[in-house]
Amino acid sequence: MASIYQFSCPKCGYQAQVAGGGDGLMAGAIHTVTCSACHSLSDALVWLAETNQQQQPTCARCHSDAVTDWNAGDGCPRCGATMTRNETSFIIAD
Ligand SMILES: [Zn+2]
Ligand SMILES: [Zn+2]
Repeated sequence: MASIYQFSCPKCGYQAQVAGGGDGLMAGAIHTVTCSACHSLSDALVWLAETNQQQQPTCARCHSDAVTDWNAGDGCPRCGATMTRNETSFIIAD
């Protein structure tokens, strides 16, 4: 299970529903990444439980591997402003 939060950018209005850091699923470990190809946030699988192996994170949206770790408090992938985390969280049960 993982907790997913709604993040929004006060400057450009970009919104994303991501973990905002590292989290775990039954399938493995995820980490939020920012993609320099499509400028969006997504949660990428970074470790696979099935094979017990590290996994190259890729963007969930465009499948590019030009991604870097993103944590709550980091800048918006579109304009760089600090994104705010909505208090509402979603529990993803897998
Ligand atoms: Zn922005
Ligand atoms: Zn992308």
